[in-house]
Amino acid sequence: MQETQIVAKLRRLAEAGHRDRSVIKGIGDDCAILRPRASEDLVFTTDFVLEGRHFALETHSAAEIGHKALARSLSDLAAMGAQPVFCLVSLAVPATLKAGWIDSFYKGLLALAAKHETTLAGGDLARFDKVVADVICCGRVPRGKALVRHGAKPGDNLYVTGELGASAHGLATKRGAAWRRHRRPEPRIAQGMALRKLGVSAAMDLSDGLSLDLRRLCLESKSGAMLDTDLPMAPGATEDEALHGGEDYELLFTASPKTRVPATLDGLRVTRIGTIIKTGRPGTIRLRGRPLPVMGFDHFA
Ligand SMILES: [Mg+2]
Repeated sequence: MQETQIVAKLRRLAEAGHRDRSVIKGIGDDCAILRPRASEDLVFTTDFVLEGRHFALETHSAAEIGHKALARSLSDLAAMGAQPVFCLVSLAVPATLKAGWIDSFYKGLLALAAKHETTLAGGDLARFDKVVADVICCGRVPRGKALVRHGAKPGDNLYVTGELGASAHGLATKRGAAWRRHRRPEPRIAQGMALRKLGVSAAMDLSDGLSLDLRRLCLESKSGAMLDTDLPMAPGATEDEALHGGEDYELLFTASPKTRVPATLDGLRVTRIGTIIKTGRPGTIRLRGRPLPVMGFDHFA
C-alpha cells in the first residue's frame, strides 16, 4: 500500500472516531485547526514509545502498541486533571512488518481514543528500521485549574490511585493480569478530572516508578515525603516493584488534611501512603523512618 492510500484509510478511521467540536479541521490539511474557548487552558504533552524500550514486537501486538502509545500521553493529561481534546500521532515502521500492522496499531490507538473522547487530528508516517511512535496530546482544563506538581505543602497527605508494581511484575513474569496490565495500561482520565474538582494540592502520573516520580514531585514542591503505611500492591508484586517499578500510570497526588478524599474515584481505590514533610534537602523520601534510595527508571542514568 502507498502512503497516500494508508493516510486515506487512517483518515476514514479517524473520522469514524470521536470528533471534538473545537477541532474544526482534522486530518487532510497541512495542520489541524483548533478553536479554543476563552474559559479554558489547554495542556500539551508528547511521549515516545520505542521498540526495545517500551515494547518488543515479539511480545506486544500492534494494537497493544497503539494503545500504549496513546495511553502514555493520556496519562500525562490525567495527571493535570485535563479532559482530552485531540492527539497527533507520528509513526515510523520497518518495511519488514506485515501488511496490516499499521492498521492494527491505529485500531488499538483509536479504541482507546474513543473511550476517552480524543480526536485523532493528524500525524506523520515514515519508514525506519525500528518501530518508533510519538504521540502529542492536547487536553483542556477550566482556566487556572490545571493540577501541577509544585503545590504540595508540608502536612499534606500523599495518595495513589489503584495498585503499584503491576507493570514491573508483569514484565518480570510475563503472566496473568500483571502482564496484561503492562501491555495495556489504563490512563486515569476520570480520576484526574475528579481530583481537579476535589481541589487537591499537587498531582502527577507514575510513569517511572514511585520513588523517582515522588522525588520529582517533592523537588517541584521544595519538600520531602514520608511513606508511613503499607503500599497498595498489585497481587504478586514485590515491594521493590511497587516502589521502583515504572509504567504503572497511576496518579500520585497530595491533598490538605482538610480535603475529604474519597476511598474510591470512579470505581478505582485510592490509598493514603504518606505525608509531605518539611526538609532542608528537598526531594528526600523516607520509608519506615529510613531514607529511601531513588531507583526508578531514568533514561539518562
Ligand atoms: Mg507524566
